[in-house]
Amino acid sequence: MFKIGCHLSSSKGYNHMAEETVSIGGNTFQFFTRNPRGGAAKPIDPADVELYKKTAAESGISEIIAHAPYTMNPCAATEALREFSLNTMTDDLARLSLTPGALYNFHPGSHVGQGTDAAIELIAELLGKLLAADSENSTPVLLETMSGKGSEVGSKFEELRRIIDLTGGTSRLGVCLDTCHVYDAGYDIVNDLDGVLEEFDRVIGLDRLKAVHLNDSKNPFCSHKDRHEKIGQGSIGVEAFARIINHPALRDLPFCLETPHEDISGYAGEIALLKSLRGE
Ligand code: FE
Ligand code: FE
Ligand code: ZN
Repeated sequence: MFKIGCHLSSSKGYNHMAEETVSIGGNTFQFFTRNPRGGAAKPIDPADVELYKKTAAESGISEIIAHAPYTMNPCAATEALREFSLNTMTDDLARLSLTPGALYNFHPGSHVGQGTDAAIELIAELLGKLLAADSENSTPVLLETMSGKGSEVGSKFEELRRIIDLTGGTSRLGVCLDTCHVYDAGYDIVNDLDGVLEEFDRVIGLDRLKAVHLNDSKNPFCSHKDRHEKIGQGSIGVEAFARIINHPALRDLPFCLETPHEDISGYAGEIALLKSLRGE
């Protein structure tokens, strides 16, 4: 089954997101676990979760992506800021244990001058504590591939591999591949998708790849910018997306759009376009 959907606002709860997803022809979605700029999460409403489970079962929604707030930094320079990230992520995972099929995606962080090696150790240390604190649950935790803007960690597959290795290689850690980010980072998914996926397999292992963010890029190859564009209107282009959504190594993964639209009708159009490009 083609799992396709988009990023949605979680302000009206889980069931509302499921209903919006159905209304735009999707069967998966992503949401921020809390205000992306941080702060407290809204308490989970058990009645909403029960309704959501019913809607999801009826409409074929089996996997959803919870995105951690992107302003927290798991490799921040101060203990207090790293502690804040750990507490946020621990609380997020506790809440996600209530919704089946959730994948928890986060940005590895920015080294803010400490250097990539030091940052990788800090991220692995945090993940070790996080997974120990959440050991009774099984929500997969996904490192997102990054564009390498500023001092971002995770724009090279090797960096993600080292984080996973330093966390003991636990099977709970996976990767979410963002098409805009990898293209901006210098992986040529337009002219050599097979080569990029072979490299991913060699360095990380395709068994770790659990989700794909579908975004075109406003900037040229290897620009390290991270500006998303609508599908087919950026430097990646519609033919490359046709190959991506049909590639044997990717086609069964959940694909989630994070493209710039005023409202969800824009996503409905993109989902229809992608469905027309999908071979079954
Ligand atoms: Fe992200
Ligand atoms: Fe993304
Ligand atoms: Zn991005």
